[in-house]
Parts: sequence; C-alpha cells; structure tokens
Amino acid sequence: QGPPPVTRYDLNKVTVTPDPIKNQEHILVLTPMARFYQEYWDNLLRLSYPHELITLGFILPKTKEGNQATAALQQQIQKIQNHGAEKDRFKSIIILRQDFDPAVVSQDESERHKLGNQKARREIMAKARNSLLFTTLGPATSWVLWLDADIVESPPTLIQDLASHDKPVIVANCYQKYYDPETKKMAERPYDFNSWQDSETALKMAEQMGPDDILLEGYAELATYRTLMAYMSNPGSPKDLAVPLDGVGSTALLVKADVHRDGAMFPAFSFYHLIESEGFAKMAKRLGWQPYGLPNYKVYHYNE
Ligand code: GDP
Ligand code: MN
Repeated sequence: QGPPPVTRYDLNKVTVTPDPIKNQEHILVLTPMARFYQEYWDNLLRLSYPHELITLGFILPKTKEGNQATAALQQQIQKIQNHGAEKDRFKSIIILRQDFDPAVVSQDESERHKLGNQKARREIMAKARNSLLFTTLGPATSWVLWLDADIVESPPTLIQDLASHDKPVIVANCYQKYYDPETKKMAERPYDFNSWQDSETALKMAEQMGPDDILLEGYAELATYRTLMAYMSNPGSPKDLAVPLDGVGSTALLVKADVHRDGAMFPAFSFYHLIESEGFAKMAKRLGWQPYGLPNYKVYHYNE
C-alpha cells in the first residue's frame, strides 16, 4: 500500500471557448439566495446548456426566511435530482449556509434599496458571494455564471449566448416587467443600475471621498453622471451589441473562471470607492480583464 494517489489537474486542458457546448466546458452557476422563487427555479431548469455540465451553488442566510428558502430549494432539488429525467439533472449541487449576519432584517424592496442601508448590505452580499465562490470553484470549472435568485426570466440559451462573445466578464441587461395602469398593459423598465461606464464626475467625487467611502449608483443624492447600461438598450441596435463597462451588476453575469482564479473577487470594502460587483469589475480590469455588457440582451427581475 503506497501513499494516497495524487489527483492532477492540468488547467491548460480546461478550455474556455466561445463554443462551450462543443468543448464540453463545465459551468458553475452561483446564486446567493435570500428567498426562493419558483419562477427562478423553473427558469433555471429551462436553461438549455447540458445540465450534466452544470454545477449549482447556493448560499442562504441563517434567518427564518433563509430556512424557509433552503427547505423549498431542497425540495425542488430532490424532485429533479432523484426523480427528474436524466437530461434535466445537474452534475452536482452545493448548498451553503451563511455563517455571518444576513444583509438586512427586512428583505422588502423599498427597505433594501434605501441609501443608508446600502453599504452594510453590499458588504454582506460581497462576503456571501466570496464564500460561495471560494468553496465551489473547482479545477474543472471553465465559466462561472452569477445568477440572482430573483431572475425569473431569461433566454434558455443564456449561457451559450453570453459565452459566444468570448469576453472575460459579460453581463446581461436586467429589466423588470410591470403592469402600467395608464396603458393597462404590461411594460418593462430598467432594474439593475450597477452596470455602467465611468464619468469624470464620478471619478472626481471618488477623489474627494474618505478611504472607506463608496460610490453607489441609482441614487439622486449621489448624481454620478455615469453612462448606465440600463438606458443603452435600443431596439434599433443589434441584439449582440457588446459595450465595455467599468462597473457590472451580478444579476446575470458570466465570468471566465480564470478571472476569479487570478484573484478577482467581490470586495467587501471600498476598492477604488467601489464595492461588491462594481468593485469586482474594477478588480478584473486591474488584472487586465475588460468587462463588457449587452444592452439589448435582457433578463428579468422578479416584481415584488
Ligand atoms: P437587489 O435586487 O439589488 O435588491 O438585491 P437582492 O436583495 O435581490 O440581492 C441580490 C441576491 O442576493 C439575490 O439573489 C438575493 O436573493 C440574495 N441575497 C440578498 N440578501 C442576502 C443575504 O443576506 N444572504 C444571502 N446569502 N443572499 C442574499
Ligand atoms: Mn434582486
């Protein structure tokens, strides 16, 4: 009996290509989850990327709501992994419970989005994403798809479509459907304002801030005059238009695993006065990986 065998992984053989299905590339789909939405799960199941190449990773807070969400999630996982059709089953699924405080007591949209709650909230979100990433990224992972638990509609070809651009970091445009009482019809509006191109104003504001202060997007009190991808959507321009970005949101964000392996993560502190996913974009860029966004490629956020 010799020593236990050493498992060798040759990272050079883990390809990351614009045709990931043909090359059988492994995808890690990561979701921090405060609430379980059936619509999110159903949309996830509709992803047409071969499920046997997908590992799912979740992190949930240890609150009452987090416990409920974990139970609901586990029930759906059981259904698919134990009783679902072979082609619907995922390669593996990992659930983590967060060992630190949840983002805020209330998960209601108005409370979540209050400016005063943002820094603490984004710090916790950053830590949750990092915990999830660092415990699940494997030697065979080619891509990481960050997909929020409240993305309830996306094209089934989401992974292939994003990967086809062959960008180190690429984000879809996150909108929200709502009922417009004036037209009495369903309409849609931008939801995620974290994907943007920087402005002179924002850079000047950052220059004057204290070392721990952060800039936040989408608040009148902090007018940054950045160019927001949310407003770049235009039916007249091609669906596959890709624009370079300085900040990204992580509602539906595809990252080449090597970007994370190089050390790009979600800072839970002021990094160039940016935090979490926006800080991640900056860190990727500092490591030489330019983030991009797709203004005309939409995914939809749950409407509370
Ligand atoms: P918003 O859409 O910008 O308001 O942000 P969300 O509240 O939707 O948070 C982004 C993602 O993180 C969603 O998938 C949430 O379910 C999840 N989330 C929110 N708070 C927490 C938390 O305290 N812990 C964990 N693990 N996930 C959270
Ligand atoms: Mn959300």
